[in-house]
Amino acid sequence: MAPRVLIAGFKHETNTFSKLPTTLESYQARGLSRGEDMRTALAGTNTEIAGFLDACARHGWEPVLAIAADATPSGRVTREAFDEISGHILKTIDQAGPVDAILLQLHGAMVAEDHDDGESAVLNLIREKVGRDIPIGVTHDLHANVTDLTAELSDVLVSYRTYPHIDQFDTATKCADLIARKMSGEINPKVTLLRGPQLDGVDHGRTTAPGPMRDILKLADDLTSEHGLLSASVNAGFPWADVDYVGPTVIVVADRENSNAMAAAEALREELWRTRETLTIQPMTAEAALAKARKKGKVGEPFVIADFADNPGGGGYGDSTGLLRAMITGGIENAAFSALYDPESVEACASAGAGAEIELQLGGKVEPSLGGPVAASGTVIGVYDGKFKLEGPMATGVAINIGPAAVFKSGGVEVVLASRRAQNYDRQFFKAVGIEPTERAILAVKSAQHFRADYAPIASEIVVVDDGDGITSHNFKSLNYQHIRRPIWPLDDI
Ligand SMILES: [Zn+2]
Repeated sequence: MAPRVLIAGFKHETNTFSKLPTTLESYQARGLSRGEDMRTALAGTNTEIAGFLDACARHGWEPVLAIAADATPSGRVTREAFDEISGHILKTIDQAGPVDAILLQLHGAMVAEDHDDGESAVLNLIREKVGRDIPIGVTHDLHANVTDLTAELSDVLVSYRTYPHIDQFDTATKCADLIARKMSGEINPKVTLLRGPQLDGVDHGRTTAPGPMRDILKLADDLTSEHGLLSASVNAGFPWADVDYVGPTVIVVADRENSNAMAAAEALREELWRTRETLTIQPMTAEAALAKARKKGKVGEPFVIADFADNPGGGGYGDSTGLLRAMITGGIENAAFSALYDPESVEACASAGAGAEIELQLGGKVEPSLGGPVAASGTVIGVYDGKFKLEGPMATGVAINIGPAAVFKSGGVEVVLASRRAQNYDRQFFKAVGIEPTERAILAVKSAQHFRADYAPIASEIVVVDDGDGITSHNFKSLNYQHIRRPIWPLDDI
């Protein structure tokens, strides 16, 4: 009989500074599928679940499909959402009968209402049910904050190696193939995890330019071949989590007999620390960015500006207005901005209808102390359902729903308004609402880094703006940390 392998995904990157809880509805909004629906939603996409399904086909395993749950980064995962999703995994194990292995897609930075470390809580529940002997392979985003307990409860733990993240499928493949070797008795893997006294590191994981992340991954590869490791991962960590274990980690997976695993992990940790101050980007003010954009942006090769401090992909509210205000009041021409989270303004556009001239208070509503709304008069260009499929290199093929959406044009700036918070890392965030990004001179995106995967090929230049008006600002000293371990760089002198 074919070995049976349970597949489940329960992802969240929790920004504990966000006042928006992550509910079951948040999962339904981004992606929640159960059983065979997982195949319909995700087979053939660039995701871990697709990679796990592919591994089942290649290794002759019978997949037991539990649940795939993903939500846009936001505040703590509610008790209801955590219990429902982890409960569904446990229920599937109960109903399916014995499985031979488990493949789990976890982000690695989940903080739940009742569990500061969401991942080890999920793993604990599963281990209580299946015991210690069933092999469990886990994938992580490279922005994972990983605890010792998660490392201990996993047989294999593998993280992405790209940021923008375009290797989800490959990461799952690597994880599943190591589990296959464990199942056949060829290897008996053990996870070694180390962290340093730092809140952030390796240039936040960016792999778009030569720098610390590319260098440390090269070192990881060298150590892997030198010492016969099974895998070596580097996590840049997710600094917007006010939890004790926050920060970058290195993970080495090696056979239990391999006495060099710890030395390899130590070499990687040393590299994490050595490069902590090196960055490949230089955030600038909105004013400075727009001064540059005016000179360089042109149709065909748009100048791309990222609204770095309010990245919904890191838990930002997606409605802060610093950059948008500077664009509208600065009289910027032939520009487009996507997407501003503002369900109220979407509704106002929908009831006014395309072509109507109206006045709106744009954005700034979730946390008005971050800058408040910007008053703008303009024209409703169109109203849309906000549903589309990603076509860029990241999560290719995955269906997205930003909720009812509208395009509102004030002066020379078209603003894409969305009813759900979503990071713009795909040109479809413009195209799906009738804006051809190459026909604009200036594009502004609510994203920090992922947008580069799909926008770099068309951009004349890319800059990032951080005026501190969002909860994904890299000015860590401005955040009110209460629970992280101290001392920690860069908040303390070490
Ligand atoms: Zn990430």
